[in-house]
Amino acid sequence: MEAKRITKQMIDSFLDTLFIPNGSCPICKRVLFFTEAFLCSKCVSALESIKGDHYVRAVRETDDGFSAYAYEGNVKNIIHELKFSREPEFAVYMGTLLGEQLLNSPKSWLLQEADMIIPVPLHEKSLQERGYNQSEKLAEGMLIVMEKRGFSIKPSLEREILSKTKETLHQRDLGRDERLFNLLGAFEISAREKVKDRKVLLVDDVFTTGSTINVCAKALKEAGAKNVSFAVLAYSQLH
Ligand SMILES: [Zn+2]
Repeated sequence: MEAKRITKQMIDSFLDTLFIPNGSCPICKRVLFFTEAFLCSKCVSALESIKGDHYVRAVRETDDGFSAYAYEGNVKNIIHELKFSREPEFAVYMGTLLGEQLLNSPKSWLLQEADMIIPVPLHEKSLQERGYNQSEKLAEGMLIVMEKRGFSIKPSLEREILSKTKETLHQRDLGRDERLFNLLGAFEISAREKVKDRKVLLVDDVFTTGSTINVCAKALKEAGAKNVSFAVLAYSQLH
């Protein structure tokens, strides 16, 4: 009896180290292993990938760009979760996936050679409603990956340089001309001297028409940035 009890205790404690209590993958519902966070490894590797980088051409003001996924299937749900789940750690986790994908790609220099990462900002009102800026959390995740991989020189994360001073409508609901008008004068740059002659990596969650990135990049270039590129979690082809 005693031996049986000890064995059961051992198995229980083994299981405790293997599984996170109540942690299951939101996609396939499988209980997560302790090595996994938020999503199981099988679902992560099955996330909708993207072929080519044709979307880069849609953004005239940037020098280059990278998207980790296509805005389809489970990725769509993930982007929604990033914005509305009120769980900033999930956005940081998705940022680690974006960082991994970028560093494993031929465009790894976009992150490695950047002097600074600037997350696409939210308007103060949206920030208060949401509690965090998902793009900033993505950027934090990307820097965690660099830290883990032992990069001695990392870009700085600049949260204050670019701000959104005008409330805008959802770009997705507007036509092409309306989109540009909607964003006109929406972003402002403080501390222009900080971006002068520097290489900037803009980070955002989703790239739809590229107008937001384009407007931000234009403002940064006008402030004297030497190179402005972007990294996004997902590219949407629905336009
Ligand atoms: Zn799963």
